[in-house]
Amino acid sequence: MQEQIYLRPKSLAEAADYYTQYPEATLWAGGTDLVVQLEQKRRKVSVVLDLTSIAEMKFIEDDVNQVRIGALTTMNDLETSPLIKKEFPLLAQAAHVVGSWQVRTLATIAGNIVTAAPSAETANPIILTNGIIIAYSKNGEREIPAGEFFTGPGKTSLLPGEIVKEIRLQKLPEGYQSIYLKERLRRSMDIALANMGCVIKLDGDKCEEVRIGLGAVAPVPMRATETETVLQGQNLNADLIEKAAQTAANECKPITDIRATADYRRDLVRSMVHRALTSLWKAGE
Ligand SMILES: Cc1cc2nc3c(=O)[nH]c(=O)nc-3n(C[C@H](O)[C@H](O)[C@H](O)COP(=O)(O)OP(=O)(O)OC[C@H]3O[C@@H](n4cnc5c(N)ncnc54)[C@H](O)[C@@H]3O)c2cc1C
Repeated sequence: MQEQIYLRPKSLAEAADYYTQYPEATLWAGGTDLVVQLEQKRRKVSVVLDLTSIAEMKFIEDDVNQVRIGALTTMNDLETSPLIKKEFPLLAQAAHVVGSWQVRTLATIAGNIVTAAPSAETANPIILTNGIIIAYSKNGEREIPAGEFFTGPGKTSLLPGEIVKEIRLQKLPEGYQSIYLKERLRRSMDIALANMGCVIKLDGDKCEEVRIGLGAVAPVPMRATETETVLQGQNLNADLIEKAAQTAANECKPITDIRATADYRRDLVRSMVHRALTSLWKAGE
């Protein structure tokens, strides 16, 4: 039987030292993705670098124009944090629809984005709030804009030896509204067929700024930039919302898999964008 090594650092510096010594190590946070991958024999682990005792990676902090979220912050921490609920309700909503309560007490924000599933629930809110991912290694810290973090299904721009230390989200100015929606086959414990987030600033009916993110309908969580262009500076009305919804359905790039066909996913996107814009428009009236 192959010998396995288990390491449990107490600080980030110690973790980075171990990661340099054992570049093949698997970083362990909540384990909710890793256990499934091990169970399905999709992953082999010879060295476990367990991050869960690193207290400096567990925090949610208000920092002037941004909120800093430690890598080990769980979905349960996010959905119950008064600060996250106030500043980033779409992130609280996204965290709330991950798995079950048991999963959410373990699943971390860093684990969610590093697994880099196109459906990753927290990716959308992080991208829409111009998030910055802080990567830590023996060489120091590196800032990765959220829009550059996801490079393909299961792939990120993290370099060898880098550990996600924290995620910084930029606060939305006064008057911005947001919404997060998820479509799935079952009511609970199911990953998304499609998900979306929308951040909008309305002046009356006028769309002063809009950001739309789509998940599970492209190789990476994506910004729907063509749809944003349709809406930017325009007065919201039923026709414009229909046009934006159709543009989103056209610009996403879904695949057909065991859960749904690509066409069905496009229909879901059209319906979600329609619902999101209508509800934000009505809420702003
Ligand atoms: C039943 C069930 C339901 C689920 N439902 C959903 C769902 O609805 N939506 C959804 O988005 N996800 C869902 N998931 C997936 C999973 O729970 C999340 O992706 C979770 O956030 C992963 O976090 P973790 O801490 O458990 O990661 P882990 O399993 O510990 O790690 C995941 C990956 O991230 C790496 N990693 C962890 N921390 C760091 C770090 N600080 N720096 C660098 N790399 C790191 C690990 O090495 C590993 O490659 C579900 C999982 C299960 C088992």
